[in-house]
Amino acid sequence: MSLEESVPSLGVPSPDMLPEASSLWLLRLLRDIQLAQFYRPILEELNVTRPEHFEFVRPEDLDSIGMGRPAQRRLAEALKRHRSGHKPKNWVYKILGGFVPEQETAPSSDSPQSLPEPEGGLKCLIPDGAVCRGELLGSGCFGVVHRGLWTLPSGQSVSVAVKSLRVAPEGAVGTELGDFLREVSVMMNLEHPHLLRLHGLVLGQPLQMVMELAPLGSLHARLTAPAPTPPLPVALLCLFLRQLAGAMVYLGARGLVHRDLATRNLLLASPRMIKVADFGLVRPLGGARGRYVMGGPRPIPYAWCAPESLRQGAFSSASDVWMFGVTLWEMFSGGEEPWSGVPPYLILQRLEKDQARLPRPPLCSRALYALALRCWAPHPADRPSFSYLEELLQEAWPSEGRCVRDVTEPGALRMEPGDPITIIEGSASSHNPSSTTWKGQNGRTFKVGSFPASAVILADMRGSPATRPVHRGSPARVEQHCRGSIDGDRAKAKLRELPSARGQRRNVPLQRIKGISKSLESVLSLGPCPTGGGSSPPELRHARAVPQGPPGLRPCPPFASNSSQPSQPPRERHPWPKREPQHNHPMGTPGASKATVHSGGLLPDSELQRRVMEVELSVHGVTHQECQVALRATGGDVVSAIQHLKVDQLFHLSSRSRADCRRILEHYQWDLSAASRYVLARP
Ligand code: ATP
Repeated sequence: MSLEESVPSLGVPSPDMLPEASSLWLLRLLRDIQLAQFYRPILEELNVTRPEHFEFVRPEDLDSIGMGRPAQRRLAEALKRHRSGHKPKNWVYKILGGFVPEQETAPSSDSPQSLPEPEGGLKCLIPDGAVCRGELLGSGCFGVVHRGLWTLPSGQSVSVAVKSLRVAPEGAVGTELGDFLREVSVMMNLEHPHLLRLHGLVLGQPLQMVMELAPLGSLHARLTAPAPTPPLPVALLCLFLRQLAGAMVYLGARGLVHRDLATRNLLLASPRMIKVADFGLVRPLGGARGRYVMGGPRPIPYAWCAPESLRQGAFSSASDVWMFGVTLWEMFSGGEEPWSGVPPYLILQRLEKDQARLPRPPLCSRALYALALRCWAPHPADRPSFSYLEELLQEAWPSEGRCVRDVTEPGALRMEPGDPITIIEGSASSHNPSSTTWKGQNGRTFKVGSFPASAVILADMRGSPATRPVHRGSPARVEQHCRGSIDGDRAKAKLRELPSARGQRRNVPLQRIKGISKSLESVLSLGPCPTGGGSSPPELRHARAVPQGPPGLRPCPPFASNSSQPSQPPRERHPWPKREPQHNHPMGTPGASKATVHSGGLLPDSELQRRVMEVELSVHGVTHQECQVALRATGGDVVSAIQHLKVDQLFHLSSRSRADCRRILEHYQWDLSAASRYVLARP
């Protein structure tokens, strides 16, 4: 069916229904559901210019323009929302479920000077052309990450990582888009030396996050790097743990739970600095119990999860602490896969019924392992907080020493005078230090082994023999804490049953680890169902705002028209891309003839292109088509078109009215980036 055959004349359209101006709603609607490629075919082949025209469009018509059935369903949904006049709240608000900073009222026209700068808000909107993407760094569930170069307005170039929303042929699905935007929303409010920084957002297609580059990649990749890459020194692993605990203290203080702590999500910004990344699963902690309960089956990294997360879908700072323990275990076992070889459905049983825990990796001192066991206390309340973990880490910190003589005894760790030695295990023996054996890592060879304590002097003992407890705190004390939280003997017995980390396969491909994230439903097949709902915010389905209709600007006649005749708009589009001639259009407007169009004298094509270009360069994230439409709507006036589009962009980023958006933009002298920061921080 073609619309011109079946659509009855709807009479003279009001000025704001003019196809030129009104097709912006269509473009917006399609863009929101990642179907912008169908804008032209829908407009030109199906001649749809108003929402009600879709009532006459049959699936076959959409088939004929190459739109698949899943895409048609998305379109139908979007139209339903559009018709109901529903404009979702700002996506930031939706994603964060209300934990973003409190909403402030939009500046009223009489107090425009009182707008404060948002603190720690979105750093900036970055024009598409300012970011040049290079080599592929990796890919996740909903995005691909490239190395990139971001050229600042000053001309300076910054190396960045660019994560682009993965768009399937049928467009991104709501969950992916939601997770992607959730990650943006979370990151834009975070500022910590050990949390990956978001530089800004490119509102193009696909959406892109421009992030701080971690040039050395993920810690997991480093841990599993094959020889000749040396293993990471134990002391450095401890430093990473301290950095991680610090970042988690910060995150927890902001009422957030990460839910995906793992070495794959720790990135190396430099050889001695990790940054926590991947905020796609971050959620606000709600309610008096400070928990987040999953609303439905979603993939979770179950081998890293606390029992309550596996059983009830419950996450809290305490479940992050559990994951911290698993991350520690990964670090000290060279990036091994936790619970490798244990079927997913058995993990919960092993943890709860058998009280089994991951075994102590060879590189891990008893003190550190005791700390990990505390993180794995069955009851969340018995686990240490992250700030307490910082203290415990300090206590379990390995001592550093220096070799004072050649050690060549059979079976002993080889060392030469001057070698830096990290003491992994050592016990006080003030009576006979010469007979005491310690375990440590040679900082020159990275080898680990036992050696006579007398061969090493501790760095902080100023040359005195090694006759004191090696760990700063008392390992015994930590062990004691540990006994309070898990059934030590039984657990130890169970631990012995587990394969040792040493015996497990090294260099587990990251992909494999990613693959073991299963939906909670599948993991829970042996246990009770998750409680669901709870304090969780609704899962985001449609993150971008759905336009309510034609933009709020008073429609202006196109360039060629006579401004005194706004109700008789021209139908011809030259030099715009060709459409059906006006007489074929069901919306044929009496009096709107080709003669009307041509009588006004169109702009020369080159001038038109120049103006489109000017508008395109001035407004972040707009497409060529949108600029054309806006210019047409504003009679070719570049400044008005720019303002029109900026209002439109802001409108779609926020829950504010167009009038408010205009006021905010005016306040910020039409700086869209500054205005966006303002509305994003105050959804
Ligand atoms: P998912 O998001 O599905 O949980 P993921 O964390 O592996 O999984 P991404 O965050 O999309 O997925 O990252 C994919 C890969 O890209 C990472 O494993 C990492 O190696 C690399 N990467 C991500 N961000 C950066 C960055 N800022 N700098 C350097 N490399 C990065």
